[in-house]
Amino acid sequence: MGRSTESLSRWEDGEVEGEQSLDEPRSARPRIAIIGAGVSGLAAAEALEETGVFDITLIEARNRVGGRIQTERVGNGFYDLGGQDFLEEDGIDISLLQYCEDKGLSRVKKSVVAQLYNKYGPVRSDSKRAGQRWYQELHAEILRKQIAIQNFEEPDKPLDAVINEFLETSLLPSRERRMLAWFTKMMETQTLGEAKNVSSKYWDWAMIQSGLSEKSGLQNCFGDLVNCLAMRKKILMGVNVQAVTYTGDAGVKIVADDNMELYVDRCIVAVPVSVLAAGDLKFSPPLPDRKISAMNAIGTCTLNKVFLEFSERFWSEGDSHFAFIDGELIKGMASTSHRFYLFESLWESTRTSSLLAYSFGADAESQELLSDQELGDAVVNVLSNMFARERIKVVRVKASKWNSDTLARGSFPFVPVNGSPEDFNIMSDPVAKRIFFAGDGTTTLFPGSVRGAFASGKREAEKIVELYNG
Ligand SMILES: Cc1cc2nc3c(=O)[nH]c(=O)nc-3n(C[C@H](O)[C@H](O)[C@H](O)COP(=O)(O)OP(=O)(O)OC[C@H]3O[C@@H](n4cnc5c(N)ncnc54)[C@H](O)[C@@H]3O)c2cc1C
Repeated sequence: MGRSTESLSRWEDGEVEGEQSLDEPRSARPRIAIIGAGVSGLAAAEALEETGVFDITLIEARNRVGGRIQTERVGNGFYDLGGQDFLEEDGIDISLLQYCEDKGLSRVKKSVVAQLYNKYGPVRSDSKRAGQRWYQELHAEILRKQIAIQNFEEPDKPLDAVINEFLETSLLPSRERRMLAWFTKMMETQTLGEAKNVSSKYWDWAMIQSGLSEKSGLQNCFGDLVNCLAMRKKILMGVNVQAVTYTGDAGVKIVADDNMELYVDRCIVAVPVSVLAAGDLKFSPPLPDRKISAMNAIGTCTLNKVFLEFSERFWSEGDSHFAFIDGELIKGMASTSHRFYLFESLWESTRTSSLLAYSFGADAESQELLSDQELGDAVVNVLSNMFARERIKVVRVKASKWNSDTLARGSFPFVPVNGSPEDFNIMSDPVAKRIFFAGDGTTTLFPGSVRGAFASGKREAEKIVELYNG
């Protein structure tokens, strides 16, 4: 970075020819820039580095690596404010799992069975099973509707329209209704978008976790993965890229804040699709219309986590997850359980009296406007009802704010009504053999997930290697 304005104008005037034209001493090796040091960008760098052929520069706007993986320390342990679990093992693509194994990053099975509470205390397991049975019926109904839509018997519609129809025609007792509301809320988070926006045709396409059953995480935290990937890499930190100019002949010019410039042969753009759709990176010439339509057609939803440390632990030592089902009932998706649909205890992992409170969609977005004090009060309000305690003292609050974070602009990409997974494929198309795209919104293989992001980075690196091999 930091080339002179003179060299910039020469490049723009077209005085330079081909990749040899840049006035800086040429690296003998092809120069590749990767914009974004999240998992996808880091994975691309790792794969290119392994070839020993390329001169790679990662450019990251934040002063940390990892993007939507963000690990914080508390007590003797860690917690993740972003990605934290792996998808189940499946054989479709195990590249990330293999990477972790090779690097000695141990995976641990995690149970996400939540203890449910209502205003009378813990919900009995037979009542929970009754809620589960209703959920299975609803699930079957959603699948029936999905098939009808796929067969063009019905138009696509938001998932909550299907849920509403089910609720209207089922004689659901109010206690089960609240239970079902919680199960549907959990399902909603797995579709990666709010039910009022998610396509019923593709609602289960991107389910990133098994959710209500077992899943796995890393022994400590996902920060370990990011640190491994970032090790010994050339990363320009705190450099916010604003413009990318490219031609088939001359290569790529990257302009960041403070008029810093970098000239490379090819570039991998590994920023979230939501950031591209917001127009935060200017491309010259503009990206093809097809790509612009695709990025605008992909939805983005927010999952937030509020970390809270208390003066003492007041929940049961054995409860890893719990939820309050006696929240306000809302039409359609029903209860939002006072806006925090799940609590995760950090007691076992950190030995501190800490919890993560989860919120999703519009709830999560509106909470981003609250101060830490207000957020803490909102969580305590739910917990006081759940545990029938009047005094709960919060010592510390830290909230993720992925929606207002302009380098993320939300948590996950999803397929909205009338959208299609094909948009994610279009996002992965290279432009002019110069600009390549990686990230969790450029893949139909585990979209919206760490595994998907990792695989997309490897995929783009392979495309570049092939260009030089071919
Ligand atoms: C709360 C939450 C929970 C999640 N839970 C899970 C989970 O349990 N399991 C799972 O698999 N996935 C989960 N995910 C999703 C997962 O974290 C993401 O899919 C994955 O991390 C995306 O990686 P990425 O490289 O595509 O994008 P990112 O991680 O967003 O990386 C993009 C990078 O580009 C940088 N950048 C943006 N604009 C610029 C610019 N102009 N110039 C320079 N740099 C720029 C950003 O700062 C960022 O570092 C979760 C996400 C969130 C937010």
